[in-house]
Amino acid sequence: MLRVDSLTKSFGSQTILHDISLSLEDGETTVILGPSGSGKSTLLRCLNLLETPESGSLTIEGDTVEFGGKLSDDQVRTMRQHSAMVFQQFNLFPNYTALKNVALAPVLNGKMGKAQADQLARDLLVKVGLEHRIDSYPEHLSGGQQQRVAIARALAVSPDYLLFDEPTSALDPELEAEVIKVLVDLARERRSLVVVTHNMAFAQKVADRIIFLDGGQVTYNGAPSGFFSSDDERIRKFLNVYE
Ligand code: ATP
Ligand code: MG
Repeated sequence: MLRVDSLTKSFGSQTILHDISLSLEDGETTVILGPSGSGKSTLLRCLNLLETPESGSLTIEGDTVEFGGKLSDDQVRTMRQHSAMVFQQFNLFPNYTALKNVALAPVLNGKMGKAQADQLARDLLVKVGLEHRIDSYPEHLSGGQQQRVAIARALAVSPDYLLFDEPTSALDPELEAEVIKVLVDLARERRSLVVVTHNMAFAQKVADRIIFLDGGQVTYNGAPSGFFSSDDERIRKFLNVYE
């Protein structure tokens, strides 16, 4: 389970996330929606401690951190082991092959020897449909292929929660479809996914839960059916853009 209690995050004097509380069940796909600037990326980054909230707490799979003071390196390491992030811009290491991009983290974090990590990386690259690209460098891969390498890399550390920040926003529709297919497969395997996306078809078809952020507050948290049929004025205005 992933739980956030009364989380508040500011940048300077501007409060970006106001008293956020939510609870996500294992094996569910949660889609975070909301207008630009509503705090979606900031919330996702708080879940992985890429940002440090001022107050509140975060619990993932029984480990909890309370915000307010400085977190120890140990606390950060423990919490980060529970999740892995996939970014809009892939963020692969340009001078490593696909294989090495995927195999690196499990070796660096001491979980595996090189041979075992290489085998895992091969298996994961096959899983995301890149068996023919294992030895390619990122510059020779399409955006969709790079993003699939990034997903394999996130899977390589066996995270409890996979966090995606607009994983297809930098891609043409055709390449977006390849990446969405991988996400759908992960959702069907009942991996725990948290996905910030503008892909409403994905949200509608695959999400178990929709969280709508507006001005740094959660104004909807529940089933997709209720969200897409909502008569809340702000939600209707948001959805109208996609219709
Ligand atoms: P988008 O849909 O455009 O990606 P978002 O919902 O992901 O938007 P965030 O990136 O979380 O929104 O930003 C929320 C607010 O926080 C914005 O007003 C943004 O300018 C501000 N913000 C984000 N990161 C920082 C930062 N590092 N320093 C200062 N302000 C920031
Ligand atoms: Mg964002």
